[in-house]
Amino acid sequence: MSGGQERSSPPHGPVQAGGGSQRSGLNVPVVLRVLGRRRAFRQRDRWTRAQLQAHQARALQQLRDHAYAHSLFYRRFHAGMSDRPLHQLPVLTKATLMEHFDELVTDPSVHLAEVEAHLAALAGNERFRGRYWVAATSGTTGRRGIFLWDLDEWVTVLASYNRSFDWAGSRAGLRRRVKMAVVSSTTPWHQSARVGATVRSPWVQTLRIDSGDPVEGIVQRLDRFQPQLLVAYASMLRLLASEQLAGRLAIAPEFIFSASEVLTGETRRRAEQAWGRPPFNVYAATETAGIASECQLHAGLHLFEDLVITEMVDGDNQPVPPGVPSDKVLVTVLFGRSQPLIRYEMSDSVTPSDRVRCPCGRPFALIEGIQGREEEALRLPGVSGGQVTVQPAVFHGVMDTVPAEGWQLVQEPNGLVVLLAGVPDGFGDDALADQLDRELRSRGVVPPRVQVRRVPAIPRSPLGKAPLIKPSS
Ligand SMILES: [Zn+2]
Repeated sequence: MSGGQERSSPPHGPVQAGGGSQRSGLNVPVVLRVLGRRRAFRQRDRWTRAQLQAHQARALQQLRDHAYAHSLFYRRFHAGMSDRPLHQLPVLTKATLMEHFDELVTDPSVHLAEVEAHLAALAGNERFRGRYWVAATSGTTGRRGIFLWDLDEWVTVLASYNRSFDWAGSRAGLRRRVKMAVVSSTTPWHQSARVGATVRSPWVQTLRIDSGDPVEGIVQRLDRFQPQLLVAYASMLRLLASEQLAGRLAIAPEFIFSASEVLTGETRRRAEQAWGRPPFNVYAATETAGIASECQLHAGLHLFEDLVITEMVDGDNQPVPPGVPSDKVLVTVLFGRSQPLIRYEMSDSVTPSDRVRCPCGRPFALIEGIQGREEEALRLPGVSGGQVTVQPAVFHGVMDTVPAEGWQLVQEPNGLVVLLAGVPDGFGDDALADQLDRELRSRGVVPPRVQVRRVPAIPRSPLGKAPLIKPSS
């Protein structure tokens, strides 16, 4: 994740209560506000496409007006362009955002150095100066990104995550008490931890497990807890599905959510086999909160177009056609006021769907899915010279046929290393290497040396993630 965003970071729970415990002067019960906003969001499911577009245009104008009125940075960045359409505005990178942080935020008394100090001391649900919830993205290269939200924005963040539960058909937290397990990062500055700390609730009993913990421990705790809702990173879902199929885990979640990482067809199939129901894929990011989510028809993910404008573009910032994976996305967060994000660049590769409408009737456009990050596209020497870019989906296609509990493809200076965990006896490593070799040749690549290595478990990052493809850094 050299782009440094925390993709789809925040698995979290249905929101019921919390916040407001801090002396802040903003003692409005967060719970009521989130419920109210959640209700308002549900009504948008019945909008027509034209209503949605009108809302979007209005919200964009309000965002831009606010940014020009209160952000010194945007007045300069968009100078002479305040009347131009969105797609003609300059792209905002994380580097630029962080470099001009103090001038970009709309509260002139907010300074990056103080926000950093606040984050460093963060333990629970404290707000920066009693007013702002703050989270950071990890950023494996370069500077980490820092983002803040005031009460009203935070309510939208929480309600947007809850939309995924609503669309899946779960009434969690609304009419009945539910038990939810979230296996994700518990690092305090991570947004999922911030969300978790805000939503302590009498109606939702939440078990938070660090996805970096050993799998035996995770299995034991899940078994004892028996969650009705399970939220986890895709690689963790796959591992847990294998544990369930092997008889070491025996849970019966009614709803399963995959947040963060790529949910491949095989991982989806394994989860369905393990628990008798397909998982719901959720696309979210710290910077945006929820971006897209599956409805009960699993026909792709509906974009949250009323909250975020997501432009799926190629390397030259031109829109990609349906069916073609983008090189990156440019997000405009329509509800952001404290730290406006307009055409903010994130390195996710997302494929717009060619389905015009979903039979569920929601007006929100569909994406086929997220195939990873730009950096997961490997650049390999081409047969006819130069470099060939191989998209993550190519590797997913081959690797999805491997009966493994987990896999990871690592690009090393002298070739590709395939890590396999939990492969049944008799699986042919050489055949897999040959298959990768053939696939790469067919794409005009000088095939690199492919080495298959069996490992007890796929190594996890400090945030407990296990990306499918690790390019050489
Ligand atoms: Zn739908």
